[in-house]
Amino acid sequence: MSTIVFVHAHPDDEGTATAGTMIRAAREGHRVVVVYCTDGDPGERSDGGFDSDVPDDLEPGETVASRRRGEAEASAAITGTARVEWLGYADSGMTGWAQNNTDGVFARADPDEAARRLADLLDEESADAVVGYDWHGGYGHPDHVMLHRTTLAAVELAAKRPRYLEVTMNRDLMRQLFVLAAEMGMEGFDPDTRGDDGNPIGTPESELHWAVDLGDDVMTKRKALACHASQSDVRQLLEIPVEAFPFAFGTEHYIEPGRPAGMVRGWWLDAVSGVG
Ligand SMILES: [Zn+2]
Repeated sequence: MSTIVFVHAHPDDEGTATAGTMIRAAREGHRVVVVYCTDGDPGERSDGGFDSDVPDDLEPGETVASRRRGEAEASAAITGTARVEWLGYADSGMTGWAQNNTDGVFARADPDEAARRLADLLDEESADAVVGYDWHGGYGHPDHVMLHRTTLAAVELAAKRPRYLEVTMNRDLMRQLFVLAAEMGMEGFDPDTRGDDGNPIGTPESELHWAVDLGDDVMTKRKALACHASQSDVRQLLEIPVEAFPFAFGTEHYIEPGRPAGMVRGWWLDAVSGVG
């Protein structure tokens, strides 16, 4: 059995990205650990779009961070995640937002310190595999880009080098879904125009290594995502008809640097690392 550490930027990112992989890994007896780099508090500013927002129904004494911590723990209970850990940085907000420049936000953290803290956790867990994000964090969010750099650096620092994968979105599949949605008269999501940093969203299929089909686990993934109901983006995703949810979220895509080119439809935990 392996210990797999999933690194995420914001509490709810696991819900759309890796929850299905976590569910299956945990069910097979692997130790699943999730690390959130930020507490998901975006400060005062929120423009909508895919980013954290401040819940408008906080109880007295409740904070954004405590609400989102609770949501993340509820999600972990559903996925079977054994440990939820926090690096405790603040949410940077999206490109160009004022809080990008605030002290304490993850995107402006000391890269060496952030990597060291993550490496310490990898060492403590004796992690066999770690999952970060692709080079632009899927869609260019400053915290996601920082996560990519931090995870790569932590893998180098770890006493035992873990297997390293990057979760991303399949841009070609997204494009197909966008065309399909338009044909059905629905508002779709165009991966070529929606990146936070001006780059297209996700990664071309030709650069992917693994496609993990979730099967029935996709509905458990949906339940994990639903734990993050304080987030308007999550509520929007939950409005997708249940029967359509698997088309968008039923396969999770990974890059594994060093593996031979070509996307394999399979379960990467069954394969030994292709990295020499
Ligand atoms: Zn995020």
